[in-house]
Amino acid sequence: MTSIKKVIEIGSLVILALLFLVPMGVSAQTPVWPETDQIYYLPYQYGFTSLCGQGNYGTLSHEDLNKAAVDFLMPIGTNIVAARSGTVVAVITSNKRTLLNYFTCPNNEIIVRHDDNSYARYVHLAYDTNPQVHVGQYVMRGQFLAYSGNSGNSIVPHLHFEVYSLNGSGQPQYMIARFVDIISNNGIPTFGKFYTSGNVLGGVSVKISVSVMN
Ligand SMILES: [Zn+2]
Repeated sequence: MTSIKKVIEIGSLVILALLFLVPMGVSAQTPVWPETDQIYYLPYQYGFTSLCGQGNYGTLSHEDLNKAAVDFLMPIGTNIVAARSGTVVAVITSNKRTLLNYFTCPNNEIIVRHDDNSYARYVHLAYDTNPQVHVGQYVMRGQFLAYSGNSGNSIVPHLHFEVYSLNGSGQPQYMIARFVDIISNNGIPTFGKFYTSGNVLGGVSVKISVSVMN
């Protein structure tokens, strides 16, 4: 992580603080890589409400291809659940952030591969010596994955969520996830808005095709 990114992250803190003082008229932009179907549910426990700290095309710390990612603000220890069913392919919860390694602590994260070979990545998770899921495990949508945290490139406790598929060269091609439990903006989270999770343990996600996006 470069120092510039740290500055950007710290700057995001200030902007988030301003959120509560200045109504921000940030309008959603047309995504470059829209998901065809609205198949995700919000990746945190049912009934919990999170403020979207960075939406698609966020310029605080999401850059280049990573612009499709979304940040959901939440206290450390919030239950993170699977946004979509799939197989766990990576579990990292061994990084403990302290004052000494505050800016060098790597991310804790979980990656789930879906049945269509797309992936969801859940980042900045809490330190946990006894991970809730393991690599190779099939998790149902809504299943508890981990506790949220503030590890890695994060100043404000939040969940960084991103969806991608791999191209022929193994490079991630990021996509914009649409959430069934977001009824506005075609299911796409928007910076500065609050979203309450409707993600109950429900197994295979219901597909809702949305045709108004282009
Ligand atoms: Zn992020």
